[in-house]
Amino acid sequence: MTRTIAVANQKGGVGKTTTAVNLAAFLQRAGRTVLLMDLDPQANATSGVGSQVPSISPIQTALEKPRQLPSLLEPTYARNLYLLPGSAMLGQQINEGHYQGIRDLRAQFTEANPPLDYVIIDCPPAMSTLSLLALQLADSVVIPVQSEYYAMEGLSQIVPLIEGIQRGDQEKLEIEGLLVTMYCEELDLSQEVYAEVCKFFPNKVFQTVIPRDVALAEASSHGRPIVDYDLRSRGSWAYLNLAKEILSNERLEETR
Ligand code: ATP
Ligand code: MG
Repeated sequence: MTRTIAVANQKGGVGKTTTAVNLAAFLQRAGRTVLLMDLDPQANATSGVGSQVPSISPIQTALEKPRQLPSLLEPTYARNLYLLPGSAMLGQQINEGHYQGIRDLRAQFTEANPPLDYVIIDCPPAMSTLSLLALQLADSVVIPVQSEYYAMEGLSQIVPLIEGIQRGDQEKLEIEGLLVTMYCEELDLSQEVYAEVCKFFPNKVFQTVIPRDVALAEASSHGRPIVDYDLRSRGSWAYLNLAKEILSNERLEETR
């Protein structure tokens, strides 16, 4: 079975794309076949794995003709890491009519050749048609939360939206976890944010926190996940640990 994980938070600049790219890369390193789906018109995840941003994204065709998915999957620099790139036109290309394609596209993720173990979807910083589409395609959501003042405020839109989707078409949509990003050990504020998030979302916060690490920003500017840019950096260790936590959730799923 494919597990589809959306990385979402309507707040901008909290580490969604950095998380989507690096999680996808570490899951691939762990031997999984992974599709990175870039549902953000900024297309930062596409350039984050060193791929060209097309003028027209193939995601529209994937939704209209899901059976064509295998031919739409773009190879990347890494074997078994595929991409559906974003484009600046995504907002114009995708409309609510495309929600009809969601069920068939979900089925194709599993039936695709190669079969996909994980689909990681990067969402834009807005609760738009595109984010809603991502959440309806997803089995679960990773919500990056930047450790800063007002971090919790950013959650005021996404959590009710997830609950709305759970009541509607996708009752199985889960919160995979909240991920505290850009954590600075030496700052009380970072520790306070972590404690606060744990208080509001007991058992839903990843133990892994992502430190503020310039290597992560450098890696994306070189079009490489951190695993291929600076394996020994703190950011790299952190995303490795996040992937491990997600893989251990996979084993829990199997025993259910
Ligand atoms: P948007 O809402 O615009 O899509 P985003 O939530 O996807 O943004 P990113 O693009 O991942 O956020 O990160 C925002 C900026 O912060 C980028 O320049 C990125 O390289 C940098 N960044 C992300 N995570 C970290 C980190 N842990 N340490 C240092 N810099 C980081
Ligand atoms: Mg982004």
